[in-house]
Amino acid sequence: LGRHRNDDRPTHFDYNGVRFGQDTLNVFAGLCAVDTIEHVEMMMKALRDQGQVCARMGAYKPRTSPYAFQGHGKNCLPYVFELAGKYDLKVIAMEITHESHLEEISKALYQTGNPTGVMLQIGTRNTQNFELLKIVGRQQNYPVLIKRGFGITLDESLNAAEYLASEGNRKVIFGLRGMKTNMADPHRNFVDFAHVPVVKRLTRMPVCIDPSHSVGARTHSPDGILDIMHVTAQGVIAGANMILVDFHPVPNKALVDGPQALLIRELPQFLEDIRIAREAY
Ligand code: PEP
Repeated sequence: LGRHRNDDRPTHFDYNGVRFGQDTLNVFAGLCAVDTIEHVEMMMKALRDQGQVCARMGAYKPRTSPYAFQGHGKNCLPYVFELAGKYDLKVIAMEITHESHLEEISKALYQTGNPTGVMLQIGTRNTQNFELLKIVGRQQNYPVLIKRGFGITLDESLNAAEYLASEGNRKVIFGLRGMKTNMADPHRNFVDFAHVPVVKRLTRMPVCIDPSHSVGARTHSPDGILDIMHVTAQGVIAGANMILVDFHPVPNKALVDGPQALLIRELPQFLEDIRIAREAY
């Protein structure tokens, strides 16, 4: 995935009719964790109405506490893929935490029969789960979003992405989601979107930003703008190619990360602000 002298290999790939590259911008808004069919449908309908073709839908959730909701797993896949087909969504980003999830996803996609695609997500807790990376790298069916490890160097995270490519899968996107620091940050994680152009310079991967896990709250700055919107715009102006962002129809009913989920009525403005920031890039 790294750039080498005289290397003219492409900095983009196509998947299920959508182009992902260092020169494109794709938005994956949606549910951090799938909870009810109704919420999935409300979210997908809102995305379709705004002309979106990608969505975020978490089925397998790695949680800090073993007692927290762990996601519906394979049980929600049939209705997630069914509804994705109904609302013409082409790619669903979905984290996996175990190799068995790959087969569950493939089976559910096949059984649903809809032309929806999946982008596998490796979360920050698994960035250096090398055995999982090798298995995910060996399959060529799905592109992979790998998030930067929250407590390791950028170089170590880029090497983790290389594990995917070295096994054969070069459809890889690198995700920035903020870093853990011990400096009492006002945000959930220290926002690292200034590294967007660095990763684009060092590698040929498109770069994703996750403003939701970076900021961690649906707060507004004194100018009345959502903090999540402010940092999204910063990432887009820095050249981000993908945005993974939490929305929820009823955030106070969300089973995971409700406080950082944006409201569906905020979606049009969010998309418009991204469009303006992209023009400024
Ligand atoms: C997520 O995107 O749902 C998630 C858990 O993110 P991260 O791995 O960045 O914590």
